[in-house]
Amino acid sequence: MRPFDYRRAGDVAQATAAAGDATAAYIAGGTNIIDLMKLEVSTPARLVDISRLPLHRITQTQDGGLRIGAMVSNSAVAADMAVRQRYPLLARAILAGASGQIRNKATVGGNLLQRTRCAWFQDISAACNKREPGAGCAAKDGPNRMNAILGVSGHCIAAHPSDMAVALRALDAQIEVTAADGATRLVAMDDFYRLPGDAPHLETCLAEGDLVTSVILPPPTAETQIYRKIRDRASYAFALVSVAAALRMQDGRIAAVRLAFGGVAPRPWNDPAVEQLLIGQPPSKDLFVHAGEALVAPAIGHGGNDFKITMVQRLLAAVLREASE
Ligand SMILES: Cc1cc2nc3c(=O)[nH]c(=O)nc-3n(C[C@H](O)[C@H](O)[C@H](O)COP(=O)(O)OP(=O)(O)OC[C@H]3O[C@@H](n4cnc5c(N)ncnc54)[C@H](O)[C@@H]3O)c2cc1C
Ligand code: SF4
Repeated sequence: MRPFDYRRAGDVAQATAAAGDATAAYIAGGTNIIDLMKLEVSTPARLVDISRLPLHRITQTQDGGLRIGAMVSNSAVAADMAVRQRYPLLARAILAGASGQIRNKATVGGNLLQRTRCAWFQDISAACNKREPGAGCAAKDGPNRMNAILGVSGHCIAAHPSDMAVALRALDAQIEVTAADGATRLVAMDDFYRLPGDAPHLETCLAEGDLVTSVILPPPTAETQIYRKIRDRASYAFALVSVAAALRMQDGRIAAVRLAFGGVAPRPWNDPAVEQLLIGQPPSKDLFVHAGEALVAPAIGHGGNDFKITMVQRLLAAVLREASE
């Protein structure tokens, strides 16, 4: 690990002022960034500790939704009674990730901004366009079992690792961001993450110093919420494939549905065309197969991860069957 400067911020303004250049990085729970610093994948000259910022609360919003502070631990979100009763999908997604000890330290902001688990990204001797633009992509022709099949480019096939972000996508959450000049903005989940294109090192819409301060959930509209994750072990493992579904039935037909997919793309994946295909239809095996085929029509496998193309279709069908019963 290389030497670095350390500052603890007492409020949001101090934090954004201290982190407003490319050599600085925030540290919240530290469960991801410390590992990356030990591996020399991340080499900030200055760490800005935001763990004491007053962003530890979960509160009701005026329209009946929830505001979750960026410093709330993953465990606290999953245990919160309002989350469990009204957004069970979010609680389940969080509990499907990492381990109890890690969830106690990991924060909402850090979970959204954790880096990919692509093995080559974490190995500084390997070519990686995300770590070093223009270096190449070792994953395309190497072992790539954990990598993505949708939304990828010739420059990067990394998958986004967060379970929580997949749930937030299906729940139409918004991310509240404060910039170095104090301006605050709301960003829809769809606009928060970038696809790799020819610049995979740019992962989100955040500028230098931008701080995630909270996540805002709209009032829940679906009567059924499901999160299912397939992984190599029953715990302590990232998703091979996951599906989040929020669904409402009316008169025997699917009246509304939001779907999001994890483990398959560089960001929580969603496909409005697949949702449209389901809306207004009575549930049936044929419909679910058709939805799965539409979902993977643009998928590209790279050998080691080809199995995900079939797996995500089967998981989607299973989740839709359960949600519509
Ligand atoms: C063994 C292991 C297994 C895991 N399994 C899973 C899993 O199955 N599913 C899953 O989803 N996750 C999993 N994780 C990841 C874990 O959930 C993340 O490490 C954790 O959520 C990161 O949160 P943190 O607060 O510790 O972030 P940190 O490590 O403190 O920060 C992570 C990144 O976010 C940035 N950051 C943090 N907070 C903010 C903010 N408010 N605004 C702007 N930038 C910010 C930091 O600068 C850093 O770049 C696992 C981790 C480990 C070590
Ligand atoms: S898939 Fe992306 S993160 Fe992985 S080696 Fe290639 S460029 Fe790097």
